[in-house]
Order: sequence, then structure tokens, then C-alpha cells
Amino acid sequence: MTLRIAIVGGGIGGLAAALFLRRAGLDATVYEQAPALREVGAGIVVPPNMVRPLMALGLAHELQDFAVRLEAAWEFRRWADGRVLSVQPMGAACERLYGAHCYVAHRADLLAMLQRALPAQQLRLDHRCVAVTQTGDGAHLVFSHQDDERSEVACDVVIGADGIHSVIREAIAPAADVRFSGLCAYRCLVPADEAPQMALRPVQTLWLGPEQHFVHYPISGGRWVNIVAIVPAGDWRTESWTADGRVADLSAAFIGWDGRLQQLIASATETKRWALYDRSPLERWSTGRISLLGDAAHAMLPFFAQGAAQSIEDAAVLADCLRGADRDTVAPALQHYERIRAPRASEVQLMSRGREIRNHLPDGPEQHQRDSELASGDPLRQSAWLYGHDPALPKEPPK
Ligand SMILES: Cc1cc2nc3c(=O)[nH]c(=O)nc-3n(C[C@H](O)[C@H](O)[C@H](O)COP(=O)(O)OP(=O)(O)OC[C@H]3O[C@@H](n4cnc5c(N)ncnc54)[C@H](O)[C@@H]3O)c2cc1C
Repeated sequence: MTLRIAIVGGGIGGLAAALFLRRAGLDATVYEQAPALREVGAGIVVPPNMVRPLMALGLAHELQDFAVRLEAAWEFRRWADGRVLSVQPMGAACERLYGAHCYVAHRADLLAMLQRALPAQQLRLDHRCVAVTQTGDGAHLVFSHQDDERSEVACDVVIGADGIHSVIREAIAPAADVRFSGLCAYRCLVPADEAPQMALRPVQTLWLGPEQHFVHYPISGGRWVNIVAIVPAGDWRTESWTADGRVADLSAAFIGWDGRLQQLIASATETKRWALYDRSPLERWSTGRISLLGDAAHAMLPFFAQGAAQSIEDAAVLADCLRGADRDTVAPALQHYERIRAPRASEVQLMSRGREIRNHLPDGPEQHQRDSELASGDPLRQSAWLYGHDPALPKEPPK
């Protein structure tokens, strides 16, 4: 009998998993709590290690239709005057080294692309998972719906791709170690025609300064500039992509910084504010027929812009591991998936931790030391561990 695979959560990771499983000849259904797929108005970096799996799904051309191809990334600048500290060239050199370009995109465009690639019957909206159980020969999900009705689904495999506040994770690793970072992220979009010229270049730019940093890049074919500003959180503790912040507070946080940043912020009409929490790697991702993927498995601080890329790497490996499995071999196949993916995702998670200390140094000897290291490095080659990773390897047969 064909394996019945239920994916809980229709974000970037859940949809990508359904696509990779389909490509492997497996039948997966995505259950998403929202009545329509939507994404916050914000940008996302699509690094080479995310582009290659998208190419494998045959989506490279579509990606190019709406994403901006970066000529440079991680262009670090000094907070006070915009002096360039270091640049990572991304164009031809990136393709030569890593077999793919690097893009920036609107999150909604990326999600819509994945949704279009998935047959409609494989996505069930308005399905909020409220419980998961398993027995020796199957798993069972309970969903609530907007009309307060409930429904149940029996399946052979459950993949929790339900994000940072995962319900499925509660069934696997309830006591995840969570630490408040002391920081929050403001995110907003600014119309390109109101942005300073330097923010329109196809470059991901990061301004480093004491206690905080500021990121911007153009998205949506250059029609918008995406802003992410990481600042001390004060008493803000809300961990939500959709919580509203105040543009005035964002602006006040960057008084005294290069005037071009004030010009960018002044053009924003609204902003979201997200408290940043750091999670330690989970002790396990899987139990029996249930496993995790994406932020549910390895939510990470955003300093490497790798969360979505890691969820897509997960998706590719998951499909490889479940290919050929049957109802009796699901559990070892999921263990195999976890054995391959957990070390890699945990490494990125742990490397993201602590990056803010380096990014947020006060002016002084340590900052001088950092800036001279930035100036003398070869950042594109130093990123080989991130961009060059092939998620399909190494592999061993399920035991
Ligand atoms: C400030 C910031 C900047 C970032 N920038 C980047 C970047 O540039 N590049 C990058 O690769 N990553 C970036 N990330 C990380 C990236 O956005 C996430 O890692 C990625 O979206 C995770 O995808 P996911 O599918 O695992 O989870 P999500 O995108 O959170 O999707 C989870 C889905 O599950 C649904 N859901 C939740 N609970 C239930 C339930 N009980 N039942 C059914 N459905 C449910 C939700 O509605 C949602 O649709 C950034 C993150 C932050 C905070």
C-alpha cells in the first residue's frame, strides 16, 4: 500500500517537502492552519544551497522571474559613514564555486511559487493540528477548523513542518531549551522610488554598529527595498512574524547612523517587530512515525539568513530517505533522515548563535580587529561549508 504521509504546516519547508516527496513518487498531503496561504510582507535571501534544491525541483526559471539576483552579499559597512568593510561577490564567482547564483525575493512570491508547483488536492487549508498520536501501525491527527468543527486523519507518517511554535514538536521533544537573545528584529518594506540609490543595487548590505545592525536589499524585481534591523529588544518579548512595531521606534534606534539609513526608514509606513529567541539543538527530531522539519526542528537566529534554506535541505533529504520505505520501515527511514540532517542543521544553528556579538561590537580595539579581519578575508570561499553543502550526501541504507 502507498505510504500516507501527512505534513503539518504549509510554510516554505512543508511545501518543499511535499514537492520533494512527490518527485520521489510518494504521496504527501499538507495540512495548513490558515484558510489561505500567506506570508508576511518581507524579503528573504535565497542562498546557493537553497537554489540548487529548487533547481532540482525544476523551479529555477520561475525563481528568476520574481527574485533579484545578487551581485554581492554580506557587504558590511561601518555604521557612522557607510565605509565598506568587506564584500562577498556573488555573481559569476558564486555560480562557478557553488553551481548556483544567490537571490533575494519577497517571501510571498517564493511561497506562491511552491504552491503553484503542488497539485491543489495535496494542500488542505483551514486544518489546524491540535493533537497527534501514534500506535505500532499508524498515526492519527486531529484538526480544528474555523467553523469550530473537528476532523481526524489517519496516516503512516507525520512530518511536523509547523514552524517555531510547533505542536508536533511537543509530542517529540517538549522541553526544548529556549533563551531570549535580548534582541528584536524590525522588518519593513520601502518603495524603491523613495529609497536612496545605494539601496537599489542588487546587493545585500549590512551596516554594523554598537549593539545593533541594519540590513537591506531590493526585492520584487527591484520595486521594493526590504529592511531588517536587529536592535536591543528593551521590554519587547513577542515572538511573532506578524506583531506590529512602530516606525518611530525603529527610526529612533538609528539616530546618529549614516543619513541614508534614516532616509530609508523615513519611507516606511509600517513595521513588524519580532523578539529573537535562541533555541538549542533538539536531542531528537523523530519518534516512531513522527518527525520534524524546518523551524520546528531547528529554529535559529537569523544571522546567517539560512532558516528557510535549511528547511529545503531537510525536505530533499527526507524524500530520499522515505523513497522505498513501507509502513514497517518508516521509523528507521526517519531515523536515517535525522542522522543525516541533525548534525548539519545544528551546526548552522550553533554558528548563528553568538554572531551578534561580533556584529554588534562597540567602537574600540575589538571592532578594529574585526574590521581588519573582514577586510583581509575571502568571504565567498569561507562560505563553502554553507553554500557548497550537498544535502543528498552522505547516505547509508536504512537499518
Ligand atoms: C528576521 C528573520 C529573517 C530571516 N531571513 C531569512 C533569510 O534571509 N533566508 C532564510 O533562508 N531564512 C530566513 N529566516 C528564517 C526563515 O524565515 C524560516 O527559517 C523559515 O520560514 C522556516 O520555514 P518553515 O516552513 O519551517 O516554518 P514557517 O515558515 O514558520 O511555516 C510554518 C507553517 O506552519 C503553519 N502552522 C503552524 N502551526 C500549525 C498547526 N498547528 N497546524 C497546521 N499548520 C500550522 C503556519 O501557519 C505556517 O504556514 C529569517 C527569519 C527571521 C526571524
